[in-house]
Amino acid sequence: MKVKCLPWLPFKADGMALKYFILVRKGYENNAALLEHELHHTRQQRNHFFLLWVFKYWFNSAFRQEMELAAYKTSIDYGESRSYCAKQLAYKYRLQLTYAHAYQLLGE
Ligand SMILES: [Zn+2]
Repeated sequence: MKVKCLPWLPFKADGMALKYFILVRKGYENNAALLEHELHHTRQQRNHFFLLWVFKYWFNSAFRQEMELAAYKTSIDYGESRSYCAKQLAYKYRLQLTYAHAYQLLGE
């Protein structure tokens, strides 16, 4: 997997997955929880037709929630706090989730 570090990313993201590439914002290149989160997305993308994954991710909030929930559970496995992940999930992805609901989902 190729990891490229950039000074900024669109949508104020810390990282992005593009099938065979991971882009991370400068300062996050050694963040294992973020890298594993993005690696999880690359596996999701390779298990789908890539452009269909991108389309569904962008336009289908239930699909986006499913993809992010799984990726944030990976982040937790690699040391990120559940509260940080719940905050990201609740406020960063245009999902209809409260912090409390996101926190609960991350524990299931
Ligand atoms: Zn993600």
